[in-house]
Amino acid sequence: EPSHDFIFRSKLPDIFIPNHLPLTDYVFHKFSGHGDGDSSTTCIIDGATGRILTYADVQINMQRIAAGIHRFGIRHGDVVMLLLPNSPEFALSFLAVAYLGAVSTTANPFYTQPEIAKQAKASAAKMIITKKCLVDKLTNLKHDGVLIVCVDDDGDGVVSSTDDGCVSFTELTHADETELPKPEISPDDTVAMPYSSGTTGLPKGVMITHKGLVTSIAQKVDGENPNLHFTANDVILCFLPMFHIYALDALMLSAMRTGAALLIVPRFELNLVMELIQRYKVTVVPVAPPVVLALVKSPDTERYDLSSVRMMLSGAATLKKELEDAVRLKFPNAIFGQGYGMTESGTVAKSLAFAKNPFKTKSGACGTVIRNAEMKVVDTITGMSLPRNKSGEICVRGHQLMKGYLNDPEATARTIDKDGWLHTGDIGFVDDDDEIFIVDRLKELIKFKGYQVAPAELEALLISHPDIDDAAVVAMKDEVADEVPVAFVVRSEGSQLTEDDVKSYVNKQVVHYKRIKMVFFIEAIPKAVSGKILRKDLRAKLETECSK
Ligand code: AMP
Repeated sequence: EPSHDFIFRSKLPDIFIPNHLPLTDYVFHKFSGHGDGDSSTTCIIDGATGRILTYADVQINMQRIAAGIHRFGIRHGDVVMLLLPNSPEFALSFLAVAYLGAVSTTANPFYTQPEIAKQAKASAAKMIITKKCLVDKLTNLKHDGVLIVCVDDDGDGVVSSTDDGCVSFTELTHADETELPKPEISPDDTVAMPYSSGTTGLPKGVMITHKGLVTSIAQKVDGENPNLHFTANDVILCFLPMFHIYALDALMLSAMRTGAALLIVPRFELNLVMELIQRYKVTVVPVAPPVVLALVKSPDTERYDLSSVRMMLSGAATLKKELEDAVRLKFPNAIFGQGYGMTESGTVAKSLAFAKNPFKTKSGACGTVIRNAEMKVVDTITGMSLPRNKSGEICVRGHQLMKGYLNDPEATARTIDKDGWLHTGDIGFVDDDDEIFIVDRLKELIKFKGYQVAPAELEALLISHPDIDDAAVVAMKDEVADEVPVAFVVRSEGSQLTEDDVKSYVNKQVVHYKRIKMVFFIEAIPKAVSGKILRKDLRAKLETECSK
């Protein structure tokens, strides 16, 4: 590595991170006799029912469910798929699987049957924990021997019959935790495996280890600066999807590490959310840009007492500066900041606006690099690191990174280089105050309201149509969703295929945010000699098409 590399580090000093501990030991450390945690305090509030789980409840349920899962044959290293909306059961299942030394692969419960099957098979899931209303999508998997566990639809886990061949969640929660010997877990064992397409290609299993996740949480909540993220007095709202790493790492697990209360809400609905903020005196509201837009536009914000909110945190996608300014004006009592991260990398950057002696932060910045990590900006052509105020690809290094992609050493090597730098595929720069600005995306990923849409996945579906010879999918800018997928399609000779035919063929096979919004028929997909799709050319073509 050349010695003249420009490397950026946090303004905060590095801290000791106990990343030798298994995740659940680390998360509940202060409740285990090592700290001052009071186990009778609230850990989870179920926004849907008002049910409250204390730290004691959560830990004993975690151990019982782990014993229950074990009794049904799940062992160290086995994969369990969580196919659940945000709920206490999601949190408990995730913790139980982690406690056991097994692996949770998380999936969007709105996925279609083929999307679920693809992930379940690729990850070799042996068990799926889900809701009654989703079981119909799992029939084939059940025939293949995957064990299905069902949480009842009213959310309290009471399922009377198992005549549909499913195990009821109560059978897990009623297991005897003393039957389960404390499992041996190594820091390099995988604990979470969300799916992400990364910088290119199809969605892949992202192997996040105990060490990686502990490091990522500690980078945000440990250390001498308690206001930096959460404190034990916070009530943290969680409507962002828990199957995505942002809510799992930066909200759920970070809240539990600090001893805060997590208010779990199944979905974002503006008035319900404001009502909950008022009722539970919520102090932290984590958002994504579309939620910021909804808050800014809503005339109803005046009708609720939202003055308890001390902190608003946005991440997962680009937040426009104008929108950030507008939300700051609307919530003058709350400090607003951004975080920036990626499934594969953990949190890369975070606003320091919340620190005890806060650093001034600018609108539009997505934070400064996290502590105990290194960051550099590299020229996309020469690969050389760049100084401040020069844009290039953001790269990050540290123990928080993923171990790699499941069964895909090539994709892993393309993403994390031999020196340990993870290449994010994001283009940005660091300014004179260490603040990071994302200005563009080098990678092909499309983000619809922060949700991942992998062009390669849609292209594979398009090409599977008998009348389609070739296809390419790129992002089109959208006011509300930020980006939406549009397709360029080469019809086979003589085909009369219409735009609607193409859309209905693809759109019934995918979750709503992957639906193709527009189709353009062209003669040939522009490609480099290597066969790589020239997406820049297509984006330029799209601009001319749209300005017609
Ligand atoms: P995911 O793996 O789904 O979390 O997607 C990660 C990608 O989302 C990043 O590589 C960025 O392209 C984008 N992203 C996340 N946070 C931000 C942010 N604060 N500003 C701009 N883009 C972001």
